[in-house]
Parts: sequence; structure tokens; C-alpha cells
Amino acid sequence: MNFDTSCLHAGYRPGNGEPRNIPIIQSTTFRYETSEDMGKLFDLEAEGYFYTRLQNPTSDAVAARLCALEGGAAAMLLSSGQAANFFAVFNLASAGDHIVASSAIYGGTYNLFAVTMKRMGIEFTFVDPDCSQEELDAAFQPNTKALFGETIANPALTVLDIEKFAKAAHAHGVPLIVDNTFATPALCRPFEWGADIVTHSTTKYLDGHAAAVGGAIVDSGNFDWEAHKDKYPGLTTPDESYHGITYTQRFGLGGAFITKAVAQLMRDFGATPAPMNAWLLGMGMETLPLRMAKHCANAQGVAEFLQKHEKVAWVRYAGLPGDKYYDLARKYLPHGCCGVVSFGVKGGRAAAGRFMAGLELASIATHVADAKTCVLHPASATHRQMNDAELAAAGVSPDLVRLSVGIEDVNDLIADLEQALNQV
Ligand code: PLP
Repeated sequence: MNFDTSCLHAGYRPGNGEPRNIPIIQSTTFRYETSEDMGKLFDLEAEGYFYTRLQNPTSDAVAARLCALEGGAAAMLLSSGQAANFFAVFNLASAGDHIVASSAIYGGTYNLFAVTMKRMGIEFTFVDPDCSQEELDAAFQPNTKALFGETIANPALTVLDIEKFAKAAHAHGVPLIVDNTFATPALCRPFEWGADIVTHSTTKYLDGHAAAVGGAIVDSGNFDWEAHKDKYPGLTTPDESYHGITYTQRFGLGGAFITKAVAQLMRDFGATPAPMNAWLLGMGMETLPLRMAKHCANAQGVAEFLQKHEKVAWVRYAGLPGDKYYDLARKYLPHGCCGVVSFGVKGGRAAAGRFMAGLELASIATHVADAKTCVLHPASATHRQMNDAELAAAGVSPDLVRLSVGIEDVNDLIADLEQALNQV
């Protein structure tokens, strides 16, 4: 199936007389005839469901759809994007280990890594994603277990040179994990450029309607854990907490990573999506290609309008010729650069505030990447406690406005922006 067809049909094929839509299996438990039947499930010897904290048919069907869209070997859904990034890294690294990550990542992920996972004994080195291959190489240590970056970073809108990152990761015998939230597989499929594991906050474009918080991990099945056996004993030696299973031997390279993440981490942390939320995600993905094309076209139109406006100081959008990431975007994002645009209003913080107050159609919201246009002024919201010097250090200028362009008629969006800019 081609991509657009997979969005509708991958992961679920109804049998004769069965529901056309993926059924919502809103049940915590599943019934068996004998204890032996259930025992085989606990030993991972038979396939089937026993408790929704570990696996649920609705979630599995939707995960299989996303797996097909990314071109992966196995996938799982989680209750949030935060859980997805935590599981993806913690499935490989323990206390005493080290991770290299791009510094241009979502603030919540940065805090998860630099504060919370550091408290668990995992060290992180953050690198400028635009650094040279040599600088990237220099960040690795003998105990490094993975390299991490975002395809299009939130909110910096940097575009990751995935091939450069994959080359460095593989030269040091570790996998590249890419958070593909802003691009989605409709715009970029990181496995095609050498990434090994993809994560998502499905809360954003994949769901697309701001209806359900969720996350996902997809494994390409390409990274050879057995070739780096000493580095990844959790995958390549018996798991005594799970009946002595060796994940690579029992499930092969395509199944080891996700099976371990479900059997150990989902069992112990329980970051499980509700079946209803998984279903909403599956429904959202049906229209992903249509929505992404409209988001990209609208954002391009809005960015071009803003660039020409006399009250706008600067615009960042990788689809604009002259943008620092234009060339990387042409390589990795030939079908568009998603719907998020950032720009500065002349006159700084006060002018940005007046502009925001003047908007009528765009909602002020901390969210990004859903069907309805929303806008945020970080200096007076998420970064409110910082003074101008601190904002500069965080890469957020006082005039910065983050606009998440929706799928409305672009003329209505431009008219709203114009009348709000006129009030500045
Ligand atoms: N990754 C990226 C790129 C994000 O933008 C976000 C949230 O904004 C997350 C991860 C965290 O996802 P969630 O809010 O679903 O936990």
C-alpha cells in the first residue's frame, strides 16, 4: 500500500461482518479457559491479551498503522510524548550510562533528560545540532548508549541533519533516536536517512485535533544490538525479571527493542494510553496526508505574508528561501516544513503582547500542531518568569511569537494577522 492508503487501512483489516472502524476494546482484562492458556501469555510464549496496562487490541492496531507509516518493524503507543521519549532512552540506558542529545529539543524533553533522568544517574551531553561532524564525534564517551534529536525542533524550528547524526551514532556503535513529532511520517521518514528509532508526541499532528495526549515509539529493526552485545546487556542477555528471556534471541532484531519496552517498562511504569485515546489517534491518522499538505501550504503563505509586513522584524520558517535551514529542509522535508512559524513583532515584548490581544481567529494556547490555528507568546506565557537576558540565553527573544498555522482558509488567517498587526 502507498502512504495515503496505509493511513486508512494499515494495522486493521476487518473480517466478514466485522466493524469497518477499529473497534474500541474498552476492557482492562481478557478471559481465558485455563490457567495454562494464560501462563503462556505471561511467558511470552503465545500471542494474546491479558491486561490493558501491557497491551490492548485497539492500541496495537493503531501502533501497527503508525509502524507502517514510518516504515518500521515494531511500534508501541504510550500515554504521552514525554513517556515515549523517556521509555526510548531508558530502554537502553541505566545509571552510569551517557546519552548525546541535540540542544535544540522541546523544553519538556530537555528537562526530562537534564534534570529527571540525571537524577536517575544517566548523564547527558547536549550538542548544537549545527555542529561539525568532528564536534559531534567529540561528544561521545565509552558509556554513551544513544544519540537523540528532533527532525524539526520545537520551538527553535531547526531542521536536523539526520544523515550526519546517523553517521556519528553508528560510528560510535549506538542507535540514533529521532523525535519526529513536528514532521510526522507524511513529511519525513527518518529511517530512510539512517535513524534507528523514532518517537512521537502523537498529541500533535498525528492526532491532529487536539483531542488526546499520547505518544509512540517505532523501531526500525535495523540496529544490530548483538553486534554491540556488551553495550546492551538488557537486550542481549537473559532478563531475570521476565523468566530469563533474551529479547534479541527470542524476538530478533525487529522485535527485541519494543518487546523489552513493553514487557519491562510498561509493566513497571504503566504509561498506557486509554483505548479511547488510541482510537482517536487512529482516526486522526486517516486524514494525516490531507491535513499536513494544508498545514504546510498555509504556513508557507502566512510566512511569506509576514516576511513582507512592515511591522514584522523577522520570520523563521524553513520553507522560506534564505532561512538558515532552507537547504536542509529541501533535502529532508521536500513536501513542506509543517505548520509552525515563528516571528518577531517590531517593538519587542509590549508590541508582541498588543498583537496577541488583537487576534480574533487564532486562539492563544500552549498547544501546537492541530487543525485550528493557535498562537503563543513565550515571553509572557511559558517563559514568563525569565527576564530579557535569561530569555536570550534560552533562545527565546522577547518579541518571539510562535504561530501554529491550522487548516482554515489561508485568506482568513492572513486577514486576522493583518488586523492584529495594524493594532500594534
Ligand atoms: N516531543 C516534542 C517535539 C513535543 O513538541 C512535545 C510536546 O510539545 C513532546 C515531545 C511531549 O509530548 P506530550 O506533551 O505528548 O507529552
